[in-house]
Amino acid sequence: VFATTPLNPPDAIFKLTADYKADTFDKKVNLGVGAYRDNAGKPFVLPVVRKAKILIANDETLDHEYLPIAGLPAFTSATGKLIFGEDSPALKEGRVSTIQTISGTGANHYGAAFLERFYGPWAGKTKEEKVIYVSNPTWANHKSIFNSVGCTPVDYPYYDPKTIGLNLTAFLDFLRSAPAQSVFLLHACAHNPTGVDPTREQWKEIADIFTAKGHYAFFDCAYQGFASGDLDNDAWAVRHFVEKKVPLLVCQSYAKNAGLYGERIGALNVVASHSGDVEGGAQRINSQLLLMQRSEISNPPTFGARIVSLILNDPKLFAEWKQDISSMAERIILMRKKLFDLLENKYKTPAVGPNGWSHITSQIGMFSFTGLNPQQCKDLLEKGHIYLTANGRISMAGLNESNIEYFAECVDKVVRG
Ligand code: PMP
Repeated sequence: VFATTPLNPPDAIFKLTADYKADTFDKKVNLGVGAYRDNAGKPFVLPVVRKAKILIANDETLDHEYLPIAGLPAFTSATGKLIFGEDSPALKEGRVSTIQTISGTGANHYGAAFLERFYGPWAGKTKEEKVIYVSNPTWANHKSIFNSVGCTPVDYPYYDPKTIGLNLTAFLDFLRSAPAQSVFLLHACAHNPTGVDPTREQWKEIADIFTAKGHYAFFDCAYQGFASGDLDNDAWAVRHFVEKKVPLLVCQSYAKNAGLYGERIGALNVVASHSGDVEGGAQRINSQLLLMQRSEISNPPTFGARIVSLILNDPKLFAEWKQDISSMAERIILMRKKLFDLLENKYKTPAVGPNGWSHITSQIGMFSFTGLNPQQCKDLLEKGHIYLTANGRISMAGLNESNIEYFAECVDKVVRG
């Protein structure tokens, strides 16, 4: 009965890690996977997370009952404040509906599924007409997720390979010429895979077009704190769009900024134009999010929600978390500086972009788009045992004091050909 089931190739990123593990070369480097590593190349359990786990283990009032459908209340109320800010008008006016999700992936899934069913301008439209515009390039899973819930992802111009930076003009023109009330996916900070974020001035221009055209902003925020090391700074674009009254939703993930990859803890926040049960009101939206959650997973898992809730609600733990985040962000920034210095000054590696290797330090967050072409990436893999995606993206977190010299030396070799 499954004779016509097509064989799907393995996920490119996970295959890269499997190939890396099977490689016996002693200097091999894994720059594929988007997970933070410490300076010894090891997975990192945040000290604040260790503390929270001990508190949970010793708390005899905790049991293993089901959570409410929307998730752990202390988590859902705190997570909204983290992204929108304590004083957010949307929160104060009761316009935000938040549900706990299976990390950022689950939030993206519900966000798109919710729009597919209820986004007014899409009423009566076909799958092909329910378009979510995504940056070219974007996290590969966005397209699969949106397709799987009956939406159609379509690229908008974002990255310019010639400058290894943002193609702002093409992006703004596209926003202006798209039909009114189009849905655009935006990376709130630390764009994956390019590491290229708009500046605040550029975000303002983008938001103005959203307001003028009535576009809907589908914010994906998987790296809050990871871009600049500062949680509020990284939430700036979202908060600006809220202030400008752009209709929007925000997906959150605690995989990266709390190192809770496997615990699958995240949230979806839909901002309504009204609080109660009136047209477009939060109460209606919330009721549909609950229905969706109930039919898919009944109730979300407890452990990650308890950890994050403790960290967000206890001022002392929250302060410690901020320190942990800035230590991760700082290590990545240090690696960017070192890599730049090695390529530019030690090896004097010929530039692949118009501004030497400065894109390595100007890009932000966990990833860097090196500007290396597919052949150079292939050479890095085959000759240097360096695992990276074919589009030239590297995870900066995979670099450390022990392997960065070797990596730079290999990059120099493949660029010189
Ligand atoms: N969005 C983006 C842009 C991402 O890079 C990721 C993680 N790679 C996610 C969402 C979701 O990750 P998770 O489901 O692990 O939270």
